[in-house]
Amino acid sequence: MYCPFCNADDTKVVDSRLVADGGQVRRRRECVVCSERFTTYELAELVMPRVIKSDGSREPFDEDKLRAGFQRALEKRPVSIEQIEIALSQIKHFLQVTGEREISSRFIGEEVMSQLHELDEVAYIRFASVYRSFQDLNEFQDELNRLSSAKPMPVKK
Ligand SMILES: [Zn+2]
Repeated sequence: MYCPFCNADDTKVVDSRLVADGGQVRRRRECVVCSERFTTYELAELVMPRVIKSDGSREPFDEDKLRAGFQRALEKRPVSIEQIEIALSQIKHFLQVTGEREISSRFIGEEVMSQLHELDEVAYIRFASVYRSFQDLNEFQDELNRLSSAKPMPVKK
């Protein structure tokens, strides 16, 4: 890469090490022309699609907002921070592999719901009641019924 001091186009790497728990590579470089040294950090660029909101406007994917949503839904539920982080990384991975540049917030919401459904059913209902735009209470009730009927029936002996 170019030297930031003299703009020479030939610099050499004199040291290279992993930092940030292996998430980044720190390189010390030296310009072959002026001998100045500088540092670069290299990290994988994980491009998240932009989010299309229901009103058609676009906003950047916001991991913190998603995490807050999980935490709100999972308040006082027996689900660890670690489990939430795993669910978040699965959603991010899923969004990345779609290869889409833009993705609807509804699509993300459905992903969140399927993760919550795995984690905790009470949290799932909480989240669904907020994020899925139920047309009316009947629709919400249908969802509740669908869930309860999906549970395994007790075996009579
Ligand atoms: Zn230089």
